[in-house]
Amino acid sequence: MEDRAGTSKSSDSSCQQNGSNLVVASDFEDGYFAVVPLSSCPHLAQVQDLPPSGIDAFAKCNVCNSENENWLCLTCYKVNCGRYIQAHAAEHFESELHPMALSMADLSAWCYQCEAYVHNEKLLPMKNAAHTSKFGESLPNNS
Ligand SMILES: [Zn+2]
Ligand SMILES: [Zn+2]
Ligand SMILES: [Zn+2]
Repeated sequence: MEDRAGTSKSSDSSCQQNGSNLVVASDFEDGYFAVVPLSSCPHLAQVQDLPPSGIDAFAKCNVCNSENENWLCLTCYKVNCGRYIQAHAAEHFESELHPMALSMADLSAWCYQCEAYVHNEKLLPMKNAAHTSKFGESLPNNS
């Protein structure tokens, strides 16, 4: 009895494991595919240096004055709201073709042309300035 239970238990569990592993793997890829940042993209060439006035992480949307979910254009440094507000950042990209923006919410850089986040050292001064404006201190040192 003990032997029989052990045998059927082990074959059952290996069967279940195979099934659930497949499901988990495909869920994982679907969920994370879009948020893996690029290490570089051609549109970094259109990113301009920080303006002398620096970055105001609390600036309002240039169009609708929203204070939430704003994005800073990394070409002309105008601030526009994200897609969950009135999507003026996406509108700005479509009218001006300025490809990259920095989120004032989580300091991630998005490329509208590549439709991907970009994590590149060229953007560190901007992220650092935004972090300093938002939290009163620069980014923790991570090479
Ligand atoms: Zn707006
Ligand atoms: Zn712009
Ligand atoms: Zn790009």
